[in-house]
Amino acid sequence: MRIGRTLPPAASPIYPQDIFAGLKGIFQGDKAVKNLEKELRQYFQVKHCFLVSSGKAALTLILTALKKKFPGQDEVLIPAFTCYSVPSSIVRSKLKVTLCDIDPDTLDFDFSQLTDKLRNNKLLCIIPTHLFGIPADVERVKRLTGNLTIPIVEDAAQALGNQINGKKLGTLGDVSFFSLGRGKAFSTVEGGIIVTNSDEIAKHLSKMVQKLDQYNYKEMVSLMFYALALMIFMHPWLFWFPKSLPFLKLGETIYDPTFKIKKMTGFQAGLASGWQKKLKKFRKERRTVTENWLNLLPRSFLPSKEVCKKISCPIRLPVKIENEEKTRHILKQNEKVGLGLSITYPDSINGIEALAKHYKGQNFPAARKTARQTITLPVHGFVKNQDQKKIIKLITGT
Ligand SMILES: *Cc1c(COP(=O)(O)O)cnc(C)c1O
Repeated sequence: MRIGRTLPPAASPIYPQDIFAGLKGIFQGDKAVKNLEKELRQYFQVKHCFLVSSGKAALTLILTALKKKFPGQDEVLIPAFTCYSVPSSIVRSKLKVTLCDIDPDTLDFDFSQLTDKLRNNKLLCIIPTHLFGIPADVERVKRLTGNLTIPIVEDAAQALGNQINGKKLGTLGDVSFFSLGRGKAFSTVEGGIIVTNSDEIAKHLSKMVQKLDQYNYKEMVSLMFYALALMIFMHPWLFWFPKSLPFLKLGETIYDPTFKIKKMTGFQAGLASGWQKKLKKFRKERRTVTENWLNLLPRSFLPSKEVCKKISCPIRLPVKIENEEKTRHILKQNEKVGLGLSITYPDSINGIEALAKHYKGQNFPAARKTARQTITLPVHGFVKNQDQKKIIKLITGT
C-alpha cells in the first residue's frame, strides 16, 4: 500500500461551495432539476433534456424508448472496446449486445467491417462512442446507415464540452447521453443526461422519466456522504487513502446490469450549479496537460497525426504500449509511485465472462489488443510538469 501523494487517473473536483449549493438544491427539489435541464437545453441548443441517476440509467431509458418505437428490433451495435456500463445497460433493457471491432488508431469502429454489421434487420440502433472524449466519426456512420433508418445513439458519457467541426459532441446523432459520474468531464457524484431533438423519442422518454422513483432516504444519505468524500479525498495528498480501501473498487470497471434507475435529485442538480464555469476551468487545465503530452511523448505511444488533431480535451489520454508484459510492468510500477496511470478496460466486451457465450467463434482482435496494450495518462489539473516528466521516464524506460 502506498501512502503519500497519489494522482487519481481522472478527476473532476467537488468543492465545499458545490456541497452548499447541493444542500440548497435539496430544498428546491424538482425546481433545481428543471432549471439544470433548461440550462443544458440552451447549452446544446436541443429541444429535449432529461436528467437521471447515471449514464447507465440514461442509456437504458433511451434503449427502452427506442424499443417502443421499433418493437421488432432487439440488437444494439456497439464497439467491442468500450466501457462495461454499455453492455450492462443493453442487457438491462432486455436487448442483445452486437459487437463490431475497432480501429486501434482511432478507437472508433473499424469502418471496413461496419457496412456488413449494418446489414442486419434486427438492429435497434448503433452506438458510436466518443471514448475518453475523443470524437468518433458520427457523420461516417450516418453515411453508412443512409436510408436504413437505424437510429444513432451517441455515447457521449466522457465527452461533455467537446466538439468536432464546430458541433458539440452529443448533438450529432438522434439521441445521446452523458455521464456525471466520478471521473467524467464534470461530476455530480453520479448522474446522467439525455439530450435529443426527436419529439417522438422524447415523448416516450418523458413518460418513462415521469414515472421513475425518487432516491430513497438511504440512497440520499449515501449520495451526500460520497460527495463529501470526493470533496476531501480527490486531492493527490489524500487520494492514497480511498485507493487503499479495496471495497471502494476505485478504478475497476465492472459489468453489472442491476443498477438503480431514478430521477436526478435536487442535491445533484444543486451540486452542478455554476457547471459551465467549472467545466471551462477543468477543460482549460486538461487542454494544457494534454498539449504537453502530445508534445512530449515519443510518436510510437501516440495515435496517428490525424487522430491527434482531433484530441483536444480528453478526460484521460490513451497511449499505446508495445506489449502486454510492458503494460503490466508499467502499471505495477505506477502502484508504487502513484502517478495516475490506469488500465483502460480489463478486456474487450466479448471477454466479459457473463457475455462470452454469445460470441463463440467471433473474434475482435483489435479491441482485445487495445484493452491489453493501452494505458491512460492523467490530464487533470492536479498533474504538474514534474509528474509528466516522471511518467514519461516510467513509460519510455529512459
Ligand atoms: C461512464 C461511462 C458510461 C456510463 O456512465 P455512468 O454514469 O457511470 O453510469 C457509459 N459509457 C461510457 C463510454 C462511459 O465512460
